[in-house]
Formats: sequence, C-alpha cells, structure tokens
Amino acid sequence: MVSRGSTQQSSAPYNRRIVLDVIRRQGEASRKELIDRVGLSPQTIANITQDLEDLDLIISKRQKGEKSRGQPPMSFALNPDGGDAIGISLELNHIASARVNLVGEMRDRREISADLRDPTTALVAMIKQVETLRLGALHPDRIWGVGVAMPGPFDAPDLAFKGPTVFEKWRGLEIFTALEDAIGLPVYYNVDSVAGAVGESLFGAASDTNRFFYLYMGAGLGGTLMIDRAAYTGANGNATEIGHIPVERNGRQCSCGNRGCVETYLSLHALSESIAGPGALLSSDEIEKRLNENDSTIHDWCRSVAPYLQQVICTVENMLDPQMIVLGGAVPGALWQAILTYAQPLLHSVRSGGTIQNARRVVISSQAGDSALLGAAVLPIYEKLTPRIDVLTQGRAEEMDSAQKKIERRFRI
Ligand SMILES: [Zn+2]
Repeated sequence: MVSRGSTQQSSAPYNRRIVLDVIRRQGEASRKELIDRVGLSPQTIANITQDLEDLDLIISKRQKGEKSRGQPPMSFALNPDGGDAIGISLELNHIASARVNLVGEMRDRREISADLRDPTTALVAMIKQVETLRLGALHPDRIWGVGVAMPGPFDAPDLAFKGPTVFEKWRGLEIFTALEDAIGLPVYYNVDSVAGAVGESLFGAASDTNRFFYLYMGAGLGGTLMIDRAAYTGANGNATEIGHIPVERNGRQCSCGNRGCVETYLSLHALSESIAGPGALLSSDEIEKRLNENDSTIHDWCRSVAPYLQQVICTVENMLDPQMIVLGGAVPGALWQAILTYAQPLLHSVRSGGTIQNARRVVISSQAGDSALLGAAVLPIYEKLTPRIDVLTQGRAEEMDSAQKKIERRFRI
C-alpha cells in the first residue's frame, strides 16, 4: 500500500517523503509511475523530483527501453551519495557504530569493548565514535543524524532499567540530550528490537512484507510487530516485550519479579551463563567460533532451548498472524540457524499447513549480528524516507519535533 499525497500547500515535506518512499520501495520509478502511485499532478511531481534532485537525495537517469522516437523517459533512484547517517548499537559490554548511506549500505563500521553500565563512560565512547565516523565521511556536513539502539523497555516501571540485560543506571535517558548537545546532530533512540525491525523493513528480509514480527536476541529477548512499515507500540510504547512472557511455571527467577520468563532461557545472557558462568556475556566471534568448531556445549544449549523458540513462534503466529517472523538481533545468524534447526518441526498454528506458503514462515535476518546497528542508523534515514513519522516518537513527540526541525533546517526539506 502506498500513501497518497496531499494537495495542501503545507504538506510539501509530507509529499516529498511519500515520493522518496515510493522510489525507495521500487528501487527506481519513472515520473509517470510516481504520478500514478502518489496521486499528485504532473507539475507537483515535477517540482518535488526537482527539489529532491537539488538536495542530492535522488538521481535521475534515462530509462533503457525499446527503440522509439524521441528520448526515453526519465526514472529516479535514491542517491547513494546523498548523505549518511550514523548508527550506534549498545550492548552491555560493547558499542558498535557505523556510517550508513541512503540506500542502507554500511560505509564504515567501528566496534569497541566498554562497560556501558556507567553512562559517563558510554557518553564519551559514543562522542568519540560519532566524531571518527563523521570525519571519514565524503561530506561530513551531510550527516543527517545519529540513531541509537539499546535494550528496552524504557517506560514500564516493573521492567525498565532492571536486571542483568539492561542499563540500570541509565534511567531517564538524559544521556541522549547530552550526546545531542556534544555532537550538534539530532539524536534518535529506540529499543533495539524496534530499530532492528525498521532496518529489516527498509532494507532487509522483510522489505516486501507489510506485516511481520521481528524477534530480537541480544542480552535479553525482544520483539516488534511491524504493520505497514510502522512498529506497533501498544498503549505506552512497550508492546510485544516478548522476553517477559512466562513459559515455565516455577521456572527460573527473572529480574521482572516473575518466574519462568522466556528470556531467562532463550537469550544471549542465558546462553553465556550456561556456557561461561554467572555474569558472562559471550561475544559474537566467540559464539561463531564455537559453532564452527561444532562445540558440543553450544549445540546442547541450542537443542535445549529449541522448544522455547517453538513456543514463541506458535504464540506470535496465533496472536498476531504475521506474514513472516524474522529472527535477528545482536547474535550471529548461525546461532539462530542452529536453534531453528533443532526446533523443527514447528508447532501447528494459524500460519501452518493448508495453502499458506511455509517457505517464508520464519526467516533469519540477512543482517543478523548487525540488525540493531543498521536499524539505528536507519532511524534518521527513516525520518526522511517514510511518511509515518509517528513511529519513532514513543512519548518523545516534542523532542522529536525539534530534532526533525533541525534536519529540515539543515537540508531545507
Ligand atoms: Zn521477566
């Protein structure tokens, strides 16, 4: 489904986003296709595409086609050199950052280990990484903003900022105001599972899917339901916090106060404790190495948690009926692949059997390991490329308005 343009004079930025969104979704679009799909007059479309070309956000080229009289028509595509955004993905023991262009390609990627439980250490590390990435850009003055992905939820008194899988001292998140002041760029943040889902929706496994569920394994386990490229947030921005769904009566104690939550079994934290003892958090490299070496301890763990993945998939499918479930997060795709293999056959659900194609019922993110990083960088890009700006606000409407205005001033959008 494509949003329709508006003929209101005040809706120029909205119309530009819609045109950008159609071009992104199609890869290339002719002027006639834009007119047909957006529903605006040929003159308005011509003005908008000219504006977007002037801003270097799109490029035009002659379409190749059958030989006929006159010039072949023009088509438009996103400009890979039209500016970059910086993404930061925070896990408890490391910070990854990347500069990503308009079409979702990573131009530069950095990673350091640091104990991010201390917000001051984290702030200094983030400022350094942003400055390094910005200086390496072809056009350092054309960085749209910084997106940060981190474990959530942010606004649930019984769950937020509690336990071993989250940043306990970050309560309030004033750190992002300090980051914005220090680097002079708009900063967007979101829960890692939402950022990852947005990344998948724009450039990943779900780019041609309107309703999918994204399961994010980081230190904990998170999930996001995407509907028409927007994350379903629930009443308070905390929807689909799947890690705290109880699956074992009288099971393991969870930081939320309940017992038997699924993330106490199926998460990087659970894997690390099971293999390396209390307080450990394995790196992606270590996990991949163990899987490649056919290490029996990690395979035993994958086999033991496969029934929990079956339960999660069955629950999500029966509750939400998504077109597909994407498995991603901060862990390597090979870890998901091992668990998913042991989880076969999947349980029966509304999504199984019959004429529904099962081939794409569950897929592993092609970005696995970097889902949140790409997703974070996408947050500022998403602001520019999609007409649905409500998705990212999550209770930060005024701050987001001001961040959006900064971008608009910067690029005259
Ligand atoms: Zn819990």
